Amino acid sequence: MLSTMNDAPLSIAQLLRHGSTVHGTADVVTWTESGARRRSYAEVGKRCAALAHALRDLGIDGDQRVATFMWNNAEHLEAYLAVPSMGAVLHTLNIRLFPDQLIHVANHAEDRVIIVDASLIPLLSPQLPHLTTVEHLIVTGSSTDDIDAPDGVHVHSYEKLLEGKPEVFEWPEVNERSAAAMCYTSGTTGDPKGVAYSHRSIYLHSMQVCSSDGPNLTQGDRALTVVPQFHAMSWGLPYAAFMIGASLIMPDRFLQPAPLAELIAAERPTFAAAVPTIWQGLHLYLEQHPQDISSMREVLIGGSAVPPSLMHTFEHDHGVPVLHAWGMTETSPLGSVARPPAGTTGDEMWKYRYTQGRFPASVQARLVDDNDDLVPHDGTSIGELEVRGPWITTSYYGIDAPEKFHDGWLRTGDVGTITPDGYLTLSDRTKDIIKSGGEWISSVDLENAVMGHPAVAEAAVIGIPDDKWDERPLVAVVLRHDTDTTLAELQQYLSDKVAKWQLPENWTLIEEVPKTSVGKFDKKQLRAQFQDGNLDITRI
Ligand code: ADP
Repeated sequence: MLSTMNDAPLSIAQLLRHGSTVHGTADVVTWTESGARRRSYAEVGKRCAALAHALRDLGIDGDQRVATFMWNNAEHLEAYLAVPSMGAVLHTLNIRLFPDQLIHVANHAEDRVIIVDASLIPLLSPQLPHLTTVEHLIVTGSSTDDIDAPDGVHVHSYEKLLEGKPEVFEWPEVNERSAAAMCYTSGTTGDPKGVAYSHRSIYLHSMQVCSSDGPNLTQGDRALTVVPQFHAMSWGLPYAAFMIGASLIMPDRFLQPAPLAELIAAERPTFAAAVPTIWQGLHLYLEQHPQDISSMREVLIGGSAVPPSLMHTFEHDHGVPVLHAWGMTETSPLGSVARPPAGTTGDEMWKYRYTQGRFPASVQARLVDDNDDLVPHDGTSIGELEVRGPWITTSYYGIDAPEKFHDGWLRTGDVGTITPDGYLTLSDRTKDIIKSGGEWISSVDLENAVMGHPAVAEAAVIGIPDDKWDERPLVAVVLRHDTDTTLAELQQYLSDKVAKWQLPENWTLIEEVPKTSVGKFDKKQLRAQFQDGNLDITRI
């Protein structure tokens, strides 16, 4: 028997219509050199209609790709909403990709239009002659006069294009399974690969962002979205904000600790999201420049494992609870979220919060071993995590990658355990785990332990070749400026925190841990520095 229910398609246009009317007074705040500029969701709605008319006039009448090369700001939000709503596909280009990678992804996605922030023109311009499908460049912000575009590429001012355009647009009904947006992985462990999100997947994922067993974005929240709009769709926050009526606070290009602190003081966000390195930087800054940041009732941190020391610091020094989450570009990106079971307190509660968390009902997770046999969810057996669900990708755009999928499940490349009540604890990425004498050492566990020392600003651990044990850990440490702690003292500090055979004997002091285009520790680069003999290693 079939149900009697309406099968109305889920779409981005629904989110746009809903947010710009029902929540028309919510607003998007964009940070600038001279403070905040604001735009209500009602205004955003009208400007989205105008943008859609402008893009139609430029020939966007189907599923052509409209790319963005932008910071997080109001105009980027307009592109997020207008492009999919008109039936085209939004492609968020990562502004920090290497030039070759940028050229590759823009050509691979066949981007027809690029909307670019004026401040990013110098980064994009050198690549323009190599972009084979781009016909239009739409520049937000200041004047377009000084752009030297190649033949065949028309340059427009965003504001001039919108001027005089109708403030309503008849959003077409789309197939909910068609692509709404695409994002390429940031290439931390390989070449960028494209993931195409559907209207349906984004809609369902937005509901999860607003769910109380997820990030719990709530009506009236003021969400500071530091995570870039080109990094896994800003973790779904812009769409969820339009669904629920949360205002958005966009930092634009002001991502350093000082302006972020200023932005938090001025705009008093209630919620925020970013990778751990951003929060670590903000914490170190606040130590020198104390300030109340407790308007944030919770901050969502993911993208890399959150060191427990960072969670405690935020909660105890700043009164801001950290919510640890796991996700990938391929998973929209949520993912598991570490909400402890109801009623847990004290150490037991913390134990749950350190984990990568539980999966929502819509996402299934399992662990498999090297032979692809299932590993029990007993909290101790280790396997590679595989996931599937309505917002998890089942392929990459335009390429075959059979090694990344397994009977319809996504192989995540992450290794860990799952407890009987569903809590995931990741020990590592398969490529980062250290194989020492036939046993595995988790680079993440070592990093967390080292970063628990108050003299340590950052620490990253990689495996290096060892004649006797195959591999041994090398700890690359950034010490705080105001300390005279030695590496031997750090090793001593670890001695009761990790098993004796795991205790690292190779240490190196560095100025900064190299970061990826989305602000994660770049272990590929660290390994290259080691191989090139550029790390000064102390054996203890
Ligand atoms: P890239 O793969 O290029 O880094 P993604 O942002 O999609 O881009 O990265 C997803 C990966 O980030 C995951 O597979 C996992 O290795 C890592 N990751 C994300 N969240 C966490 C977390 N909370 N703890 C540990 N690792 C995480």
